[in-house]
Amino acid sequence: MVDRLVNSEANARRISMVENCFGSSGQPLAVPGRVLVGEGVLTKMCRKKPKARQFFLFNDILVYGNIIINKKKYNKQHVIPLEEIKLESLEDEGQLRNGWLIRTTSKSFAVYAATSTEKQEWMAHINKCIEDLLRKSGKKAAEVYAAVWVPDSEAQICMHCKKNQFTVLNRRHHCRNCGEVVCGPCSNKKFLLPNQSSKPVRVCLNCFDTLSKAKLQNNFQTSLTTRPDSKDRTGSADSSWEEDSDEDEDNLNRAYQEADKSKFYGSTNAGVIEDADVTEETTISIDQKKIDHKGH
Ligand SMILES: [Zn+2]
Ligand SMILES: [Zn+2]
Repeated sequence: MVDRLVNSEANARRISMVENCFGSSGQPLAVPGRVLVGEGVLTKMCRKKPKARQFFLFNDILVYGNIIINKKKYNKQHVIPLEEIKLESLEDEGQLRNGWLIRTTSKSFAVYAATSTEKQEWMAHINKCIEDLLRKSGKKAAEVYAAVWVPDSEAQICMHCKKNQFTVLNRRHHCRNCGEVVCGPCSNKKFLLPNQSSKPVRVCLNCFDTLSKAKLQNNFQTSLTTRPDSKDRTGSADSSWEEDSDEDEDNLNRAYQEADKSKFYGSTNAGVIEDADVTEETTISIDQKKIDHKGH
Protein backbone atom coordinates (compact mmCIF):
# COMPACT_ATOMS: atom_id res chain seq x y z
CA MET A 1 0.00 0.00 0.00
CA VAL A 2 2.84 2.27 0.87
CA ASP A 3 4.29 1.44 -2.55
CA ARG A 4 1.43 3.26 -4.19
CA LEU A 5 2.63 6.47 -2.59
CA VAL A 6 6.19 6.27 -3.88
CA ASN A 7 5.78 8.59 -6.83
CA SER A 8 2.73 10.44 -5.62
CA GLU A 9 2.62 14.18 -5.39
CA ALA A 10 1.07 13.98 -1.94
CA ASN A 11 4.08 12.06 -0.66
CA ALA A 12 6.54 14.51 -2.20
CA ARG A 13 4.61 17.40 -0.69
CA ARG A 14 4.57 15.83 2.77
CA ILE A 15 8.28 15.10 2.73
CA SER A 16 9.07 18.63 1.67
CA MET A 17 6.86 19.88 4.52
CA VAL A 18 8.90 17.85 6.98
CA GLU A 19 12.12 19.25 5.50
CA ASN A 20 10.79 22.78 5.81
CA CYS A 21 9.78 22.28 9.43
CA PHE A 22 13.33 21.26 10.32
CA GLY A 23 14.83 23.96 8.09
CA SER A 24 18.60 24.17 8.15
CA SER A 25 18.73 22.12 11.34
CA GLY A 26 17.79 18.97 9.43
CA GLN A 27 19.17 16.97 6.55
CA PRO A 28 17.52 16.59 3.12
CA LEU A 29 14.88 13.86 3.33
CA ALA A 30 13.61 13.64 -0.23
CA VAL A 31 15.23 10.52 -1.63
CA PRO A 32 13.94 8.48 -4.59
CA GLY A 33 11.73 5.67 -3.33
CA ARG A 34 11.23 7.15 0.11
CA VAL A 35 7.70 7.35 1.47
CA LEU A 36 6.43 9.18 4.54
CA VAL A 37 4.35 6.49 6.20
CA GLY A 38 3.14 8.29 9.30
CA GLU A 39 3.75 11.07 11.79
CA GLY A 40 2.75 12.14 15.23
CA VAL A 41 3.77 13.25 18.68
CA LEU A 42 5.13 10.65 21.07
CA THR A 43 6.38 11.12 24.60
CA LYS A 44 10.02 10.13 24.75
CA MET A 45 11.62 9.08 28.02
CA CYS A 46 14.68 11.26 28.37
CA ARG A 47 17.38 11.21 30.99
CA LYS A 48 15.56 13.60 33.31
CA LYS A 49 11.91 13.13 32.43
CA PRO A 50 9.48 12.28 29.62
CA LYS A 51 9.29 14.86 26.84
CA ALA A 52 7.08 15.38 23.80
CA ARG A 53 8.87 14.73 20.51
CA GLN A 54 7.66 14.81 16.92
CA PHE A 55 8.19 11.52 15.09
CA PHE A 56 8.13 10.77 11.36
CA LEU A 57 8.10 7.22 10.07
CA PHE A 58 9.43 6.75 6.55
CA ASN A 59 9.73 3.42 4.75
CA ASP A 60 13.48 3.35 5.45
CA ILE A 61 14.17 5.70 8.36
CA LEU A 62 12.63 6.96 11.60
CA VAL A 63 13.09 10.67 12.20
CA TYR A 64 12.35 12.63 15.35
CA GLY A 65 12.99 16.05 16.72
CA ASN A 66 12.15 18.62 19.36
CA ILE A 67 8.98 20.62 18.87
CA ILE A 68 9.60 24.37 18.69
CA ILE A 69 6.22 25.30 17.21
CA ASN A 70 3.70 22.49 16.89
CA LYS A 71 3.40 21.33 13.27
CA LYS A 72 5.55 24.21 12.06
CA LYS A 73 9.04 24.16 13.44
CA TYR A 74 11.22 21.37 14.75
CA ASN A 75 14.91 21.07 15.52
CA LYS A 76 17.48 18.59 16.87
CA GLN A 77 16.72 16.11 14.13
CA HIS A 78 17.63 12.49 14.70
CA VAL A 79 17.60 10.02 11.83
CA ILE A 80 17.64 6.29 12.56
CA PRO A 81 17.91 3.73 9.73
CA LEU A 82 15.05 1.26 10.18
CA GLU A 83 17.26 -1.80 9.79
CA GLU A 84 18.95 -0.75 13.05
CA ILE A 85 15.69 -0.68 14.98
CA LYS A 86 14.07 -3.32 17.10
CA LEU A 87 10.86 -2.66 19.05
CA GLU A 88 9.91 -4.11 22.41
CA SER A 89 6.51 -3.53 23.96
CA LEU A 90 6.45 -2.19 27.52
CA GLU A 91 3.95 -2.99 30.26
CA ASP A 92 1.97 -0.04 31.59
CA GLU A 93 3.48 1.33 34.77
CA GLY A 94 1.70 4.10 36.68
CA GLN A 95 1.42 7.11 34.43
CA LEU A 96 3.77 5.61 31.88
CA ARG A 97 1.31 3.87 29.61
CA ASN A 98 1.13 2.72 26.00
CA GLY A 99 4.89 2.56 25.73
CA TRP A 100 7.48 0.55 23.89
CA LEU A 101 11.24 0.51 23.48
CA ILE A 102 12.95 1.71 20.36
CA ARG A 103 16.25 -0.14 20.47
CA THR A 104 19.05 0.76 18.11
CA THR A 105 22.73 0.00 17.85
CA SER A 106 23.85 3.37 19.18
CA LYS A 107 20.98 4.42 21.42
CA SER A 108 17.86 2.88 22.93
CA PHE A 109 14.94 4.65 24.53
CA ALA A 110 11.29 4.32 25.53
CA VAL A 111 8.42 6.20 23.90
CA TYR A 112 4.78 6.47 24.93
CA ALA A 113 1.69 7.06 22.80
CA ALA A 114 -1.44 8.83 24.02
CA THR A 115 -3.65 5.77 23.63
CA SER A 116 -3.22 2.03 23.28
CA THR A 117 -4.66 2.23 19.77
CA GLU A 118 -1.98 4.67 18.76
CA LYS A 119 0.66 2.45 20.32
CA GLN A 120 -0.57 -0.50 18.29
CA GLU A 121 -0.67 1.59 15.11
CA TRP A 122 2.84 2.89 15.60
CA MET A 123 4.34 -0.47 16.48
CA ALA A 124 2.60 -2.23 13.63
CA HIS A 125 3.64 0.38 11.06
CA ILE A 126 7.24 0.52 12.23
CA ASN A 127 7.54 -3.28 12.29
CA LYS A 128 5.95 -3.57 8.86
CA CYS A 129 8.36 -1.00 7.43
CA ILE A 130 11.37 -2.77 8.97
CA GLU A 131 10.19 -6.10 7.60
CA ASP A 132 9.59 -4.70 4.09
CA LEU A 133 12.90 -2.88 4.09
CA LEU A 134 14.90 -5.94 5.14
CA ARG A 135 13.13 -8.08 2.56
CA LYS A 136 13.47 -5.66 -0.35
CA SER A 137 16.92 -4.24 0.29
CA GLY A 138 18.63 -7.34 1.55
CA LYS A 139 19.94 -5.20 4.41
CA LYS A 140 20.73 -7.01 7.61
CA ALA A 141 19.06 -6.32 10.91
CA ALA A 142 21.34 -5.08 13.66
CA GLU A 143 22.60 -7.65 16.14
CA VAL A 144 23.85 -5.44 18.93
CA TYR A 145 21.61 -2.93 20.67
CA ALA A 146 22.54 -0.12 23.03
CA ALA A 147 21.33 -0.25 26.62
CA VAL A 148 18.27 1.73 27.68
CA TRP A 149 19.35 4.35 30.21
CA VAL A 150 17.70 4.21 33.60
CA PRO A 151 16.17 7.69 34.16
CA ASP A 152 18.04 9.78 36.75
CA SER A 153 14.98 10.05 38.96
CA GLU A 154 14.90 6.30 39.47
CA ALA A 155 18.21 6.19 41.27
CA GLN A 156 18.90 8.11 44.47
CA ILE A 157 21.94 5.96 45.24
CA CYS A 158 24.52 4.30 43.01
CA MET A 159 23.10 1.11 41.49
CA HIS A 160 26.52 -0.53 41.67
CA CYS A 161 27.90 0.09 45.18
CA LYS A 162 24.42 0.81 46.62
CA LYS A 163 26.10 3.29 48.98
CA ASN A 164 27.01 6.49 47.24
CA GLN A 165 24.10 8.94 47.45
CA PHE A 166 23.66 11.35 44.55
CA THR A 167 23.78 15.08 45.27
CA VAL A 168 24.53 18.22 43.30
CA LEU A 169 28.21 17.51 43.74
CA ASN A 170 28.07 13.74 43.62
CA ARG A 171 26.81 13.45 40.08
CA ARG A 172 25.00 10.62 38.36
CA HIS A 173 26.69 8.77 35.52
CA HIS A 174 25.32 6.20 33.13
CA CYS A 175 27.02 2.96 32.23
CA ARG A 176 26.93 2.83 28.42
CA ASN A 177 26.78 -0.92 28.47
CA CYS A 178 24.00 -1.70 30.97
CA GLY A 179 22.37 1.74 31.28
CA GLU A 180 22.46 1.78 35.08
CA VAL A 181 22.94 4.97 37.08
CA VAL A 182 26.26 4.78 38.90
CA CYS A 183 28.59 7.00 40.88
CA GLY A 184 31.95 8.31 39.63
CA PRO A 185 34.20 5.79 41.44
CA CYS A 186 31.99 2.90 40.24
CA SER A 187 32.35 4.04 36.62
CA ASN A 188 35.91 5.28 36.47
CA LYS A 189 36.85 2.93 33.64
CA LYS A 190 36.16 3.10 29.96
CA PHE A 191 35.61 0.44 27.38
CA LEU A 192 35.40 0.52 23.60
CA LEU A 193 31.82 -0.13 22.45
CA PRO A 194 32.17 0.34 18.69
CA ASN A 195 28.42 0.68 18.13
CA GLN A 196 28.27 3.72 20.32
CA SER A 197 31.50 5.56 19.80
CA SER A 198 34.87 5.34 18.16
CA LYS A 199 36.37 6.21 21.55
CA PRO A 200 36.11 4.17 24.74
CA VAL A 201 33.01 5.11 26.75
CA ARG A 202 32.08 5.11 30.42
CA VAL A 203 31.05 1.73 31.81
CA CYS A 204 30.36 0.52 35.34
CA LEU A 205 32.89 -1.73 37.09
CA ASN A 206 30.65 -4.78 36.66
CA CYS A 207 30.41 -4.28 32.94
CA PHE A 208 34.10 -3.47 32.69
CA ASP A 209 34.93 -6.85 34.21
CA THR A 210 32.44 -8.74 32.07
CA LEU A 211 33.48 -6.97 28.88
CA SER A 212 37.18 -7.42 29.59
CA LYS A 213 36.76 -11.14 30.23
CA ALA A 214 34.69 -11.57 27.12
CA LYS A 215 37.30 -9.75 25.09
CA LEU A 216 40.02 -11.95 26.48
CA GLN A 217 38.07 -15.02 25.51
CA ASN A 218 37.69 -13.53 22.09
CA ASN A 219 33.97 -13.78 22.40
CA PHE A 220 33.51 -10.11 22.15
CA GLN A 221 30.97 -9.42 19.49
CA THR A 222 32.08 -6.90 16.97
CA SER A 223 29.27 -7.51 14.56
CA LEU A 224 28.77 -3.88 13.76
CA THR A 225 28.41 -3.50 10.05
CA THR A 226 30.30 -0.42 9.03
CA ARG A 227 27.91 1.86 7.27
CA PRO A 228 29.10 4.95 5.47
CA ASP A 229 26.65 7.14 7.39
CA SER A 230 27.14 5.57 10.78
CA LYS A 231 30.26 7.60 11.41
CA ASP A 232 28.49 10.85 12.26
CA ARG A 233 26.37 9.14 14.79
CA THR A 234 29.03 7.08 16.45
CA GLY A 235 31.08 10.18 17.03
CA SER A 236 28.16 11.98 18.59
CA ALA A 237 26.65 9.16 20.57
CA ASP A 238 27.38 11.02 23.73
CA SER A 239 26.19 14.38 22.60
CA SER A 240 22.94 12.88 21.37
CA TRP A 241 21.98 12.69 25.00
CA GLU A 242 22.58 16.40 25.40
CA GLU A 243 19.18 17.05 23.87
CA ASP A 244 17.85 15.77 27.11
CA SER A 245 18.68 18.98 28.86
CA ASP A 246 15.82 20.85 30.41
CA GLU A 247 15.79 23.72 27.96
CA ASP A 248 12.52 22.88 26.28
CA GLU A 249 10.12 22.18 29.05
CA ASP A 250 7.48 24.41 27.55
CA ASN A 251 6.06 21.70 25.35
CA LEU A 252 5.83 19.30 28.26
CA ASN A 253 2.71 20.55 29.86
CA ARG A 254 1.01 21.34 26.62
CA ALA A 255 -2.42 19.74 26.66
CA TYR A 256 -2.83 17.03 24.11
CA GLN A 257 -4.90 18.38 21.21
CA GLU A 258 -7.28 16.64 18.85
CA ALA A 259 -4.97 17.65 16.04
CA ASP A 260 -2.08 15.82 17.70
CA LYS A 261 -3.37 12.41 16.69
CA SER A 262 -0.82 10.40 14.83
CA LYS A 263 -1.50 10.09 11.13
CA PHE A 264 -0.66 7.16 8.92
CA TYR A 265 -0.81 7.52 5.16
CA GLY A 266 -1.99 4.96 2.70
CA SER A 267 -3.02 2.55 5.41
CA THR A 268 -6.52 2.03 4.09
CA ASN A 269 -7.38 -0.75 1.66
CA ALA A 270 -5.30 -0.33 -1.43
CA GLY A 271 -8.36 -0.43 -3.65
CA VAL A 272 -9.84 2.58 -1.98
CA ILE A 273 -6.90 4.78 -2.78
CA GLU A 274 -7.66 6.00 -6.26
CA ASP A 275 -7.04 9.68 -6.03
CA ALA A 276 -3.87 9.66 -3.98
CA ASP A 277 -4.07 13.34 -3.18
CA VAL A 278 -7.45 13.17 -1.55
CA THR A 279 -8.44 9.83 -0.17
CA GLU A 280 -5.20 8.45 1.13
CA GLU A 281 -5.03 10.96 3.91
CA THR A 282 -7.04 8.75 6.19
CA THR A 283 -6.42 9.66 9.76
CA ILE A 284 -6.68 6.97 12.33
CA SER A 285 -9.53 8.41 14.31
CA ILE A 286 -9.55 7.35 17.85
CA ASP A 287 -10.67 8.84 21.07
CA GLN A 288 -7.78 10.81 22.36
CA LYS A 289 -7.16 10.54 26.03
CA LYS A 290 -5.39 13.46 27.58
CA ILE A 291 -1.94 12.58 28.62
CA ASP A 292 -0.40 13.98 31.73
CA HIS A 293 3.24 14.69 31.14
CA LYS A 294 3.85 16.10 34.56
CA GLY A 295 4.25 12.86 36.46
CA HIS A 296 7.42 10.96 36.96
ZN1 LIG B 1 28.97 3.52 43.30
ZN1 LIG C 1 27.17 -1.46 33.50
